[in-house]
Amino acid sequence: MKGAVFPMAEDRKISWPWPDTPAESLVQRARTAATRAYAPYSGFKVGAALLTSDGCVILGCNVENASYGMSLCAERNAIASMIAMGHLDPVAIAVVGGMSGTPCPPCGACRQVLMEFNEDMTVVLESPNRIILIKAYELLPLSFSLEKRHE
Ligand SMILES: [Zn+2]
Repeated sequence: MKGAVFPMAEDRKISWPWPDTPAESLVQRARTAATRAYAPYSGFKVGAALLTSDGCVILGCNVENASYGMSLCAERNAIASMIAMGHLDPVAIAVVGGMSGTPCPPCGACRQVLMEFNEDMTVVLESPNRIILIKAYELLPLSFSLEKRHE
């Protein structure tokens, strides 16, 4: 099963046009965020590091709740922080969780939220021997969208 999870990422190169923030450093920042996660119920700590087009890195971590359904994912927390900080232009997001080197792909809800802000966003995931780059639109084909009528 391992190795077959992201066949599209295996097949071709995805460029990384942000030399000031290497993909590896974005993963490291996500790892730092994961150490801050509030996950007293599952123990599964997730961190996300979002890169904006102007070079800002914004962190998010999962925040669980005793009422399980109220728990928040790291990726959506990073997106919410990005909006609060005045950015609307994410270009990449690293997501890490669980054991280092094990892929932790965004859940379905987070995929939809990532697509809201950039269908072409590069998602960075860890794997045992390398970093995986995959596009948001590949993670959620035929995503739901609406025409935006207001700023
Ligand atoms: Zn999620």
